Amino acid sequence: MTEAAEIPKSARPPKQEQEPASEEVTELAPGVIRMQLPIWMPGLGHVNMYGLVDDRGLTLVDPGLPGPQSWRALKQRLKTAGYSLKNVHTVLVTHSHPDHFGGAMRLQHEAGAEIVAHDTFRTMFDTAELDDQEDSGALDLNSPEDRDAAMERYFSKPTPWGGRRAGPPAEFLERMRSSGAAAGAVFGTPTPTHTLVDGQTIKLARREWIAMHTPGHTYDHLCLFDPEFGVVLTGDHVLPTITPHISGTSPHEDPLALFFQSLRRVAAISDVSIALPAHGHPIADLSGRAEDIIEHHEERLDIIRTAQGELPNGTVADFMRVLFRERSWGEMAESETYAHLEHLRQLGEVVCTFDAGLAHYAPVG
Ligand SMILES: [Zn+2]
Ligand SMILES: [Zn+2]
Repeated sequence: MTEAAEIPKSARPPKQEQEPASEEVTELAPGVIRMQLPIWMPGLGHVNMYGLVDDRGLTLVDPGLPGPQSWRALKQRLKTAGYSLKNVHTVLVTHSHPDHFGGAMRLQHEAGAEIVAHDTFRTMFDTAELDDQEDSGALDLNSPEDRDAAMERYFSKPTPWGGRRAGPPAEFLERMRSSGAAAGAVFGTPTPTHTLVDGQTIKLARREWIAMHTPGHTYDHLCLFDPEFGVVLTGDHVLPTITPHISGTSPHEDPLALFFQSLRRVAAISDVSIALPAHGHPIADLSGRAEDIIEHHEERLDIIRTAQGELPNGTVADFMRVLFRERSWGEMAESETYAHLEHLRQLGEVVCTFDAGLAHYAPVG
């Protein structure tokens, strides 16, 4: 949902990702235009909606949050770019966060657009259903009652580390409501009409793009690479000036290991001319930025290793307080801390025991 778990420790220049949505429409590569939509999420000011132009019209990548305010901006940007809704034949969603998939269903409904996402695309609410071994096909997440029931079930479950789920930040829900979006619409998940798996190609903007499954920020994250012009759509996998949030709650037992792997894969793409993130400006040195993000998490692992001297049997919340400044404390920071602790556990460096339902981590040996 959000990326800005980390608050800068000292006064630094504002992050690119926090800049308000510009009304400008710019062509960044042949047939690739950048349009910015306003979003209301902690630490983020806009989402980049890329338009990929071909003979049939265009594909929109990550069409913003649900709700009339974002929808108005979307139509305005299309108009500035010389298009209208009827030109949109496809929506490509990089991953299952509402600032990326929010406009997809309305585009499907009003423009008849196809929806393309990774094969594992789903939201956390779907995952909660699967955890319960329920038949998720029987549940229509688009009906408000079922969605409320799913949310209720989701937020009443304890976190994997024994803490309580906080739910979406009240401020976020309030801003969504004031933008005109019904609370339930935030969690209305589109069902992709086409799914992609790693290595599959898709024709967009008059050329073939290679789908790269890049789990980490979310398990279902998808990047796309166009070898012809060296364009990479990085979604939230690689962002220019903030480090993407890593959720410890994932269908995979070690999401941080997956994130490292996915970052190394992206860093290894050769002949990249421009990388286009979902928030912030184009990235000139994709592999350098991916390496920086890896390094940031390696440093966090080291901070935990050092902190274990004073926290020989610490909880997720204990280590969170070491890793994050107080204003960032909460479920997102806990979940990211949990991902780091579980990574150390998978490396065989720590053991986890439960005491009164709370996970405690102790160094091995
Ligand atoms: Zn995201
Ligand atoms: Zn995002």
